Amino acid sequence: MRIAMIGTGYVGLVSGACFSDFGHDVVCVDKDDSKIAALEGGVMPIFEPGLAQLVERNVRGDRLSFTTDLAAAVAEAEAIFIAVGTPSRRGDGHADLSHVFAATREIAEALKRPAVVVTKSTVPVGTGDEVERIIRETAPQAKAWVVSNPEFLREGAAIEDFKRPDRIVLGTEEEEAAEMMREVYRPLYLNRAPLLFTSRRTAELIKYAANAFLATKITFINEIADLCECVGADVQDVSRGIGLDNRIGSKFLHAGPGYGGSCFPKDTLALLKTAEDHQAPLRIVESVVKVNDARKRAMGRKIIQALGGEARGRTIALLGLTFKPNTDDMRDAPSLSIVQALQDAGAKVRGYDPEGMEQARPLMPDVEFCDSPYQAAEGADAVVLVTEWDVLRALDLQRLAISMAQPNFVDLRNVYPPEDVLAAGLKWYGVGRMARS
Ligand code: NAD
Repeated sequence: MRIAMIGTGYVGLVSGACFSDFGHDVVCVDKDDSKIAALEGGVMPIFEPGLAQLVERNVRGDRLSFTTDLAAAVAEAEAIFIAVGTPSRRGDGHADLSHVFAATREIAEALKRPAVVVTKSTVPVGTGDEVERIIRETAPQAKAWVVSNPEFLREGAAIEDFKRPDRIVLGTEEEEAAEMMREVYRPLYLNRAPLLFTSRRTAELIKYAANAFLATKITFINEIADLCECVGADVQDVSRGIGLDNRIGSKFLHAGPGYGGSCFPKDTLALLKTAEDHQAPLRIVESVVKVNDARKRAMGRKIIQALGGEARGRTIALLGLTFKPNTDDMRDAPSLSIVQALQDAGAKVRGYDPEGMEQARPLMPDVEFCDSPYQAAEGADAVVLVTEWDVLRALDLQRLAISMAQPNFVDLRNVYPPEDVLAAGLKWYGVGRMARS
């Protein structure tokens, strides 16, 4: 099939490259010409494991190309995916749909043949109706079916998630559109990925409900972690103890500094706005958002407590800055709130991240960026593990201890056994557990 992917970001680029890998003929479109120029020169605009090889292979096979010319890509396509950003609207937390609607207008003007227009971007319930209205208004003669197909891939594991999804949600009640979507996804359901057909509005809501549920799980275990610290229990064991119950499941039960990233914060907020508009309050999600916001800043206080309550003039090294490992995405990363809280308290902050420093630099203007975790730790009063990149999972703790001004090690991801940290001559602070000594 001929596919046009509008928006070549984390989702559009991965989806486009994977579709081409399955044999479809894909053109990825972006209005950012520097991104397209980079891709044409073989340079990836984002860090995602395996992406460069996947793109290279399919460009070489003549199945994948890049352009800023939306009209040309759309004119040829049988399936047009909208994968543009839907950030939080400034001021009120509603999803900002301006990119989706702008792309829709451009698509409508360029339609030359019957096609499915598929929203892959995360969009509030009813957006598909509006996309359809814009197309009818702009191009009354065009034959187009509007389908919702939310994306569930995780950055850092995006290719594997796209190729082996737990399910593919398709929101359409029109048989021709359903048939075209089956054709698009045929190679995937040979991998046994179930296609779940629902109404368009239901598909749109499934994405938000899924993200809100996962955010709730994370926030739940984080609050349990706080209670563990008060009562002398171990949150790692609590997680294991409840996660082994199949009804609960072990995923998303790792206590830490709070969820961040480009999806959970904005999607939980947007869901609350939809609920508010329909006077159907989602009180659990309201609490999740509040608790998580408070938690990110509370992590700053936790670090200051490790320093004996005074951070002014102290040097603190943060290891891992992105919102999770294996991505360079800094959007809404917990490290941003932690840096702010520490700098507000008068601390000097250093940072190290294997892939995220380029994106972090403009967001953290007063942070001193270092070339290695050891350089960051040199003369520091505390080292804080914020994001559990593989290269930060086996640090030479003795080397850290020797080079630091004060031996405080704060492990916000519970990666290191407290005994190992203490044995290296460091003081240990974790999340929701006590040192057994
Ligand atoms: P992104 O910001 O990385 O990419 C969006 C791209 O769209 C940008 O390159 C931008 O230049 C381009 N764009 C905007 N308007 C355009 C237009 N009119 N024509 C052509 N290109 C245009 O965003 P992302 O992280 O890929 O997210 C895209 C959507 O997918 C969002 O709705 C997001 O919520 C959803 N989503 C993201 C993830 C994720 O892990 N990032 C996962 C699932 C769903």
